[in-house]
Amino acid sequence: MTRRGRFAPTPSGLLHIGNAFTALAAWLQMRQAGGEFVLRIEDIDKARSRPAYAEQLQDDLLWLGIDWDEGPRGGGPCAPYEQSRRESLYEEAFEQLQQAGRLYPCYCSRSELAAIGSAPHGLASEGAAYPGLCRSLSPAERQARAAKKTPALRFIMPPHELRFYDAVAGPQTCAGEALSDFVVKRADGMFSYQLAVTVDDAAMGITDVLRGADLLDSTPRQLALYEALGLRAPDFAHVPLLVDASGRRLSKRDSALTLAALRSAQVPPERLLGALAHLAGWIDRPEPLTARELIPFFGPVRTASGRLTVSEQLRHWLTEG
Ligand code: GLU
Repeated sequence: MTRRGRFAPTPSGLLHIGNAFTALAAWLQMRQAGGEFVLRIEDIDKARSRPAYAEQLQDDLLWLGIDWDEGPRGGGPCAPYEQSRRESLYEEAFEQLQQAGRLYPCYCSRSELAAIGSAPHGLASEGAAYPGLCRSLSPAERQARAAKKTPALRFIMPPHELRFYDAVAGPQTCAGEALSDFVVKRADGMFSYQLAVTVDDAAMGITDVLRGADLLDSTPRQLALYEALGLRAPDFAHVPLLVDASGRRLSKRDSALTLAALRSAQVPPERLLGALAHLAGWIDRPEPLTARELIPFFGPVRTASGRLTVSEQLRHWLTEG
C-alpha cells in the first residue's frame, strides 16, 4: 500500500518557521518512504481564514522546495482540497453519527462555558473539558431550552480508555478530560475541526498524520470519531513545536520569523532548511541544503524537552549568514 501524508494548514495568517518545520517533516517522511503528499487547506472556519493566506502559503512552500502530489492548485482524485468546499462530506458523517445516537444538543451559553473554561482541567488544543451538562437533560428540559436557543451538537465520547502509539511521543493512554464530549457542529452550523479533519484524512486515504505537538491531545477525539464512523485510523506522529529563546511558542504574530519576511530579506530557502534540519537533529551543524538533499537525513526528531528552541545563535545564522 502506498503511504500518504499531508500538510493541512489553516490560512489564518502567514506561515512561520514553526509551520515550515511541520510541513518539512511531513514532506520528508513521505518523500523518504516513496509515498504521496497531499496539501489540504483547512479553511472551514471562514471567519478566521483568508484566501490570500491560502495562496501565500502555497507560494511559501514552493519557495522552500516543498511540493505536493495533490492539492488545491493541481487538483487530484480527492478534490476539492479546501475544507470550505467539502461540507457535504461533513454533513454525511454528521448524519451517520446522529443516526447512531452519538450526538446530543448542547444549549450551554458562552458564559456557562467560560465558567467551565476557568476550571483547571482541559485540553490545551481545545479549551476546557466539558462535564456533559446537557447530556442528561430530560426531553422536557430539552424542549424548554430549544425554544430559546439553537444548540450546538456534541459527540458522546466512549467510556473506555483510548490508546494509541505516537511515533514521537510514544505510547499514549487517554482517559479523564481527554474523553470529554466535544462539539462537532456549532450552533451557527459550522462543523468542527475534529470532525472535518477526521472525515478528510479518511476520505483522502491518509495513512500517516504528522503534525505539531499542540494537536497531540486532539488525537483521542479523532480516534473516537474514526471508531464511531467505522473508519480506519492513520498512524500519528506529533513533532515538537518551535519556541524562541525565552521558551515562548512561535506564533503567527512573530513577524520576523514568517517565511514571507525571510523571503523578502533575501534569506535563501536552503539556509532555512539547513537551520530546521539542524534543530531537529537530522544534520550535525547548520549548513544550507535543499529540501531534496535532506530526504536521506530525515529521521526521529531529537529533543530532550519536547520543544525545539530557536536560539539567538541559530536565528543569527539564519538571518545574517
Ligand atoms: N489545520 C490545523 C492547523 O493549522 C492542523 C490540522 C492537522 O494537522 O490535523 O493547526
